[in-house]
Amino acid sequence: MDHFLYRDGELYAEDVPVRDIAASVGSPFYCYSTATLLRHFKAFDDALAGTDHLVCYAMKAASNQAILKTLAQAGAGMDVVSGGEYARAIAAGVPGDKIVFSGVGKTHDEIRTALTTGIRQFNVESEPEMRRISDVAVSLGVVAPITVRVNPDVDAKTHAKIATGKSENKFGIPISRAREVYAEATKLPGLKVVGIDVHIGSQLTQLEPFRQAFSKVAELTETLRADGHDIRRLDLGGGLGIPYTRSNEAPPLPNDYGQMIKETVGHLGCEVEIEPGRLIAGNAGILVSGVVFVKTGEDRQFLILDAAMNDLIRPAMYDAHHEIVPVKEAEPGVELRPYDIVGPVCESGDTFAKGRLMAPLAEGDLVAFRSAGAYGAVMSSEYNTRPLIPEVLVNGDQFAVIRQRPTFDEIINRDTIPEWL
Ligand SMILES: *Cc1c(COP(=O)(O)O)cnc(C)c1O
Repeated sequence: MDHFLYRDGELYAEDVPVRDIAASVGSPFYCYSTATLLRHFKAFDDALAGTDHLVCYAMKAASNQAILKTLAQAGAGMDVVSGGEYARAIAAGVPGDKIVFSGVGKTHDEIRTALTTGIRQFNVESEPEMRRISDVAVSLGVVAPITVRVNPDVDAKTHAKIATGKSENKFGIPISRAREVYAEATKLPGLKVVGIDVHIGSQLTQLEPFRQAFSKVAELTETLRADGHDIRRLDLGGGLGIPYTRSNEAPPLPNDYGQMIKETVGHLGCEVEIEPGRLIAGNAGILVSGVVFVKTGEDRQFLILDAAMNDLIRPAMYDAHHEIVPVKEAEPGVELRPYDIVGPVCESGDTFAKGRLMAPLAEGDLVAFRSAGAYGAVMSSEYNTRPLIPEVLVNGDQFAVIRQRPTFDEIINRDTIPEWL
């Protein structure tokens, strides 16, 4: 459930008419709902009640400082995948001991900064990385807490670009080799093994792949404990999917996911971490865009919007479906028309939807892309020198711009001209 609903024929974000925000900041823009963010975070937190746990928001889904602060104040930890994200988490007031560091390519600098400023654990994705973390820790005279990310070779049954738990993926260490890797970790002077990590992919719409993966992790926990390792923490990753359409089968709820976690690993007495990103931010954000033209082609009508693939790349990159709704609610019984909904960027891939049935729209009308809060703004670019669009956060009847649209001058002045020109 989210807080973007119609009232008297107008789309609202919580208690604010979306049209008022558009009048204030101009389209296109992203708009997030505080109540939805908090509701989703709480759903996970409640789902693990009774178990020692920490919900580490995977901030790559939506990493605006205001979003991080909203979640951090509710008690969230953070899962970061780069030095930049680590800096964002610290800047948002997240203590180092609530930050976990994931990702396959951690650099010396990133490791050093995290060890100096504070880190809950590194989720180690390879043996060279394990040695590097140990070396940096030794050079700083500290010990780095680590888990090893195991790849359980489970089919997440999701889009190929966001599946991460099969043996062909670049992530983690094959679970079949975990014992030897853990044995090596204990020999490295700068490391302290604290647990096991797994993350099998994103936008999973069934519990079964998670259950398979977590069962394998449970088995491994017993094996590693028998080998003498102190496995006290299980990081079970993120990946729970969200409904992008109203019609399709609803993905499992956080509560059922939490129940399944308790069933698969509850008997081990471990502290549990989860790293949800999409489910917290996805339906907490919309992308609002204006109609630039309605263009009649040979056999179809194009709705040309002021938002484009550089603002929301998910349709072009993942063949993603986003529900697109008019900000002024369609009159009941109005006849729907098929539109190809596109942006102005010079690529045929800049197509949000083909033959989408919509109530008739005209130049200047506003539409909203639902479920655009995760992997939306964070993946945007300034391709075609289109400025990064503003982000707005709503809280009850208030709203605030949480990232300004840069001016053309600001964009141009980021470039520097070499002396010889
Ligand atoms: C992307 C990612 C997540 C979050 O995945 P969602 O599908 O957004 O929940 C969690 N952990 C790791 C390691 C990731 O790479």
